[in-house]
Amino acid sequence: MSKEGNKLQILSVLVLLVLVVGLGCQSGGGIPSKTSFEPGASLELESNPYSIDLLSAVIQPDFPNSLTFGLECKGESEITDIELHYEPLKRSSAVVCIWPDFERAREVQTSWTLDTRKISLPPGAQIRYRWVVENVDGEVLRTEWGRFTFNDSRYDWQEISSDKIRLLWYQGNREFAEGLLSASEAALDRLSKDVGAQLEKEATIYIYASSTELRNALVFPQEWTGGVAFTNYGTIAIGISPSNLSWGKRALAHELTHLVVHQMTFGPFSDLPTWLDEGLAVYAEGDLGESFRNALESAVSEQDLHSVESLSSSFPADPQEALLAYAESYSIVKFLIEEYGSDKVLRLLQVFKEGSSPDGALKKVYEFGTDGLEMRWRTSLGLESGVTAIAGFGT
Ligand SMILES: [Zn+2]
Repeated sequence: MSKEGNKLQILSVLVLLVLVVGLGCQSGGGIPSKTSFEPGASLELESNPYSIDLLSAVIQPDFPNSLTFGLECKGESEITDIELHYEPLKRSSAVVCIWPDFERAREVQTSWTLDTRKISLPPGAQIRYRWVVENVDGEVLRTEWGRFTFNDSRYDWQEISSDKIRLLWYQGNREFAEGLLSASEAALDRLSKDVGAQLEKEATIYIYASSTELRNALVFPQEWTGGVAFTNYGTIAIGISPSNLSWGKRALAHELTHLVVHQMTFGPFSDLPTWLDEGLAVYAEGDLGESFRNALESAVSEQDLHSVESLSSSFPADPQEALLAYAESYSIVKFLIEEYGSDKVLRLLQVFKEGSSPDGALKKVYEFGTDGLEMRWRTSLGLESGVTAIAGFGT
């Protein structure tokens, strides 16, 4: 592990200078001039037909807390307006326009800091950005879009990859990483074979050496966080020590399934019930772990199961109750796959993508709703279907 500290990371930007007469947010003509800029450099363009020069554009990252965008520019006339446009490259993102503070002058410097704690950027997230500068004469300089990768450069990452997975790690040998990569592929195979679900886009996996180091890389992590799937970015961050490989393989299969399921069901009206999302993730891990099995068995024998309806929303915070919620979700998903086949589970995911309530989606695919599922699943466990299962999660 090598720590580089918070050194200034320099971004050399290829800048296309375009002179536009008109509004700042419109693109226009002009003669492009490509130049590479160094931060702080006093740049003189050899034959500069424009009246605004971009002297430097830098980004200073402080992973995982912030990103500071800096700009220096100079003009023949007073600079009156500076805009920064940025956009995290993820599914369904939008360009954000910022007007950083600066003193109106012919030569100006400004910077603006993005608090990345508020938008929870995963390691390796890419951001595109550009500057738009306007002078008192209405002339506008617009840079090309630059790209920046928000890397966790506190560690020396190594990388291996397969068709659909890029895996980065910094502790443990290559065999360790290969073991995790093949467990990820096995989980994808299982999902493909049993559910017909496929990863639509390459997944990137960051393996931290422990859950403590993972938590230090995340902002506002939950106490119990062992792994996180940033489904909009196609990224997983997870803490796995080389001495804890078998747990790690299961945890990775779990998070990877969340990526697959969210990619497949992404849509403005998708309302995936938690039991389906978590149930598929536990299913992809392989056989149910012992503690889950015990929790499920004792809840069945005591007839103290959470209802399917209650498992459609957030799981309980209490660890024992949460354990049972995961085990039940696994059991419901397994029941649906074994009783009605993988085609229907795949169809169910597609119906959620099109937009449906849990009850409506079940009725469309299985011709029974949440109550009907509850009854049939309970019967499969040897319970009387007529008994209403109510185990609340508290408030
Ligand atoms: Zn999960």
